[in-house]
Amino acid sequence: MSDSCCGTTAIEIEPFTTSQQTAPGQTGALPVVVIGAGPVGLAAAAHLAERGIDFLLLEAGDQVAASVAQWGHVRVFSPWKYNIDAAARRLLEADGWTAPDGEWLPTGAELIDDYLAPLAKLFNDRVLLGVKVTAISRLGYDRVRTAGREEVPFLIRLESGEELQARAIVDASGTYTSPNVLGASGLPAHGEHEVFVDHALPDVLGADRDRYEGKHTLVVGAGHSAATTLLALAELPDTPITWAIRGGSASRTYGGGDADALPARGALGTRLRAHVESGRIQLLTGFFAHRVNATDQGVEVVSRDPSGHEQSVTVDRIVSATGYRPDHSIAAELRLDLDPVLGSTRALAPLIDPNQHSCGTVPAHGVDELAHPEPGYYAVGVKSYGRAPTFLMATGYEQVRSVIAALAGDWEAARDVQLDLPETGVCSSNLADAQEQRVGLATGISGGLLSTPLPLATVGATASAESGGGCCG
Ligand SMILES: Cc1cc2nc3c(=O)[nH]c(=O)nc-3n(C[C@H](O)[C@H](O)[C@H](O)COP(=O)(O)OP(=O)(O)OC[C@H]3O[C@@H](n4cnc5c(N)ncnc54)[C@H](O)[C@@H]3O)c2cc1C
Repeated sequence: MSDSCCGTTAIEIEPFTTSQQTAPGQTGALPVVVIGAGPVGLAAAAHLAERGIDFLLLEAGDQVAASVAQWGHVRVFSPWKYNIDAAARRLLEADGWTAPDGEWLPTGAELIDDYLAPLAKLFNDRVLLGVKVTAISRLGYDRVRTAGREEVPFLIRLESGEELQARAIVDASGTYTSPNVLGASGLPAHGEHEVFVDHALPDVLGADRDRYEGKHTLVVGAGHSAATTLLALAELPDTPITWAIRGGSASRTYGGGDADALPARGALGTRLRAHVESGRIQLLTGFFAHRVNATDQGVEVVSRDPSGHEQSVTVDRIVSATGYRPDHSIAAELRLDLDPVLGSTRALAPLIDPNQHSCGTVPAHGVDELAHPEPGYYAVGVKSYGRAPTFLMATGYEQVRSVIAALAGDWEAARDVQLDLPETGVCSSNLADAQEQRVGLATGISGGLLSTPLPLATVGATASAESGGGCCG
């Protein structure tokens, strides 16, 4: 385990010895284990700390919010006032911290430096960095065995081979580390794993500039991440750009232009459209990535549409901005009740369905919607939404407030779920517009690229919803 920039102390985890094993029915003596020190995992820690419940927060990365750090150069669309958890704020302010300007739109890096890292520091050695969870089960119980199951602790296996026990698990491990594939049918394109594919949001104008400048780059995807990358690439001289989408038109990515309910989103779309119309960006529609071949001229990406028609493009680099999916494999020995479409819990799915909801219209929800048949295991944060791209930190903060209240036995608080997210105000476009004049275009979510419902996909139609086309896609 490593020391961190945020000052959390690196400690070694001792495997539980026989004398530390918990007898059936005595799991309460064990800590709650939170997986992932992103915004939601850290908020869970804050609620646990406030309620005096022992916990450990395990983070795979070598810094807190390691996934946010990957998009640290991206400015988000929701202002600070929606990005700070209430319990975290109380703990931080008691420690002398001053909240950033509530109306400001931070970058990912600012989220970490000005909020998440100071928060993690409060928890000292309860936050363990460089600790990756590889599997979760019940001590002595596989998924099939029932009798007495609820009485035994959770068993958590780490990448190091060490094992821990927990009374409950709050899985806030996100989806950023499991991006969707390039292949248009949800399966990897043939050869996709043999060539180098960058995932969404490379720092094209910053740290990654040398890798893109002068290189013909293909961006695949129709969401905001694709748009953001395309606009950045367009600023690089002598850099040919091709943009491939499954749909027959890019109108959904362009948004409503001047008439868009969200001016920042409209501005992004208007710029993108101008680049396509001027020929700066070559748009390939009806592109269903099927095969990827390394050739002497570069990487050939072949599309085969549902009718069998092929088209191809040969490029130097590929950016796959096709969204994310949850990886439930670490919990494969637990009893999960997953929605067959989204991979969220079944109860949550209708509340977050991107065909019906934008970020700002998702209703408040908590422990009841997040519960699985496996008592004591909760996936929270962006992972809880599965493939729905409508997640907001604010909804995740309410999730963990409710779940931790339930773990504390305070069911009244757990079920009193509340969320005040004006549909457009949460991802304030006016702010984004004003701030753009000062610090550049806000390129994170936009209050829901899906603030109007998506057209329902028609079987066989090419213009259905693109993966990753949501708030953060
Ligand atoms: C570019 C972008 C812009 C966004 N803008 C906004 C915005 O403006 N407003 C908003 O509300 N939301 C926004 N979001 C959506 C969402 O709020 C963020 O993705 C947020 O980071 C999700 O928080 P999280 O804690 O659930 O997950 P994450 O931030 O993804 O954190 C998960 C953590 O778990 C760790 N981890 C993963 N696997 C393991 C493991 N096996 N063991 C241990 N640790 C593990 C990861 O390293 C990571 O640190 C944006 C997302 C993106 C990608």
